[in-house]
Amino acid sequence: MPAMMKTTGSIHRIEVENFKSYKGHQVIGPFRNFTAIIGPNGSGKSNLMDAISFVLGVRSMQLRGSQLKDLIYTENDSVVNPLRRAYVKLVYRNGNGSGEELTFTRTITAAGSCEYRINERVASWDDYNAKMKSLGILLKARNFLVFQGDVESIAAKNPKELTAMFEQISGSEELRKSYEELEEQKKRAEERTMLAYQKKRSMVSERKQKKEQRDEAEKHLELVKKLKELRRENYLFQLFHIDKDIGSLMAEIETDNGDLREVAKAQYGVENAIKEKKKQQAVYMKKILDAERNIGRKKTDLDKKVNEMGHKKEAARYDVLKAKVEDIDNQLREAKADRRENERDVKMNAAIESLKRLFPGVRGRITELCRPTQRRYNLAVSIALGRNMDAIVVDDEKTARDCIQYLKEQRLSSMTFIPLQTIKIKPVQERMRTLGGTSKLVIDVIQFDPAYERAFIYACGNTLVCDGLDEAKRLGWGPERAKVVALDGTLIHKSGMMTGGLSGGMEAKAQRWDDQAVESMRN
Ligand code: ATP
Ligand code: MG
Repeated sequence: MPAMMKTTGSIHRIEVENFKSYKGHQVIGPFRNFTAIIGPNGSGKSNLMDAISFVLGVRSMQLRGSQLKDLIYTENDSVVNPLRRAYVKLVYRNGNGSGEELTFTRTITAAGSCEYRINERVASWDDYNAKMKSLGILLKARNFLVFQGDVESIAAKNPKELTAMFEQISGSEELRKSYEELEEQKKRAEERTMLAYQKKRSMVSERKQKKEQRDEAEKHLELVKKLKELRRENYLFQLFHIDKDIGSLMAEIETDNGDLREVAKAQYGVENAIKEKKKQQAVYMKKILDAERNIGRKKTDLDKKVNEMGHKKEAARYDVLKAKVEDIDNQLREAKADRRENERDVKMNAAIESLKRLFPGVRGRITELCRPTQRRYNLAVSIALGRNMDAIVVDDEKTARDCIQYLKEQRLSSMTFIPLQTIKIKPVQERMRTLGGTSKLVIDVIQFDPAYERAFIYACGNTLVCDGLDEAKRLGWGPERAKVVALDGTLIHKSGMMTGGLSGGMEAKAQRWDDQAVESMRN
């Protein structure tokens, strides 16, 4: 039999009187936690269930037997005794161990109506029901009674009916209305939530977008700042270099100014030298003029004398005079050559000074860089060196090219350059040193810095120098066939050619070494 749920108490026993097949007063129980009622068919098992249902307030319609009076005991299926009454009493015992009893009694009166009592005192149906509710017995729910055939009928129910049944049993049917209302509210709330969620989502995305925009803007500002800094740095960098350039250019200008002053000084010196030479030239010119006048006079004299001689037949006097005239002519030629040479020299010296200043690889003229070991070799060395006397010794070919470029730019007359690095030389033939007599290699009778040796080997070659002309001839045209210069300046070529006599200012050039010696002594 079912125990009362939700409470600690339980049904202790059922007392019936004249209920259905129970005749008179019967006590059924006490019930245990689990009690089974057994018996043959029709013995009254279901009637006990009916009795419990009845006392709990189940309507007679829901019990087997549609009318209340059908529930009253009848003997031999005869008509119910109209005076007989029936009741069912449920004795409920509190579970706290005190044994306290609570009784519910439902009675079918002789008049056929229902009467309810709690602890033997008549109560209204509402109070009766409320009391039972307080014990957890929900009549409407019928949640504790399983009638015969219920299992089969439940099994035969469709899902909808099952749902309805469960709702009835669980008591949720009562809550259906509020459930539906709440369901509606929930739906509305969900809609609101959805809206709010969508709003939130759009706001989040908007926020994200704004944040991106903000980040972009910040990045932009950062880059603008960086750009500004870089520009500033760039300008500073440029300014720094401009400043530096100004500094170095100023220094260059300073140096150039210094150089300019030097050049001006040198120019001043050269101009003075020119002035001096011009003065000398004027003196020579005067001499020439005088000499020419003298010649004129002498010629007139001569003519006169020749006329006189025609008569007096003085041949001898004419010869003397003629020799005198020739002598004067020679002097005149030399004076002219000297003048030309001086002018050329002044210009050349100035040009060489400029080259030395401009190009550090310029060493100087051959004549500046050597001097004969003895004065008596001056003329022979000059002749042997020939046009190389005025050649300029430089370090390398590039310096030579630079110098030539400069000469062209300045419209100066051409010069010959001997680059030390690249000039091709024939080695000195040692046997030329041991030919005997007074012969010597020209290169052995001059002094020079060993650094310029290549230039001098080139300029002198294997040319020999000796005292007399006869010896020179022997050497030049003998088995050696050397190029030889005699001390008087006569040059014997291997080919047999001879050069000699008073020549284009060579004597004056030979004088240069003496001038140089005087100059260096004066310095
Ligand atoms: P089964 O095992 O077949 O279900 P059961 O033990 O449940 O049997 P019940 O239905 O409780 O039997 O009892 C039925 C018996 O009760 C029947 O014999 C019936 O005549 C008797 N009965 C029903 N109503 C009355 C009444 N008003 N007066 C006298 N007897 C009644
Ligand atoms: Mg039965």
